[in-house]
Amino acid sequence: MDLALDPDIYSPSVDKDGTYMDNIPSSGTFKSGGIRCPCKDTIYSTSGKFSSHIKTKCHIKWLENLNLNRMNHFIENERLKQTVRNQQLIISNLERELSIKSRNMDYLIQELNKVKLDSANAKQLVNLIDI
Ligand SMILES: [Zn+2]
Repeated sequence: MDLALDPDIYSPSVDKDGTYMDNIPSSGTFKSGGIRCPCKDTIYSTSGKFSSHIKTKCHIKWLENLNLNRMNHFIENERLKQTVRNQQLIISNLERELSIKSRNMDYLIQELNKVKLDSANAKQLVNLIDI
């Protein structure tokens, strides 16, 4: 059985001014599942195909928009980081709550079994008295 490798997601380089610029990933990237360009959500399996792709109007426009919205991406990234921190906190609290409820449930099951046993013993006692 072949294991399919997930393609890497293409991310352009950033120059010293913070401007996104295209780059061709190493050949190893293409050998290990290819690369998925977010502009069209298409996977490119060779360096040649990807080199041709980054010259298309669609990709050039995508890169221009990426540069125009740099500040928005930064703000969105900060918001997403906050969302992840909040979700980690929620998960942690839920795990703690689940652990407490699980222990309570184990205790209640033990208590229920004791009550069942006492009840069964009481019935046997009544049966013996009736005899
Ligand atoms: Zn593209």
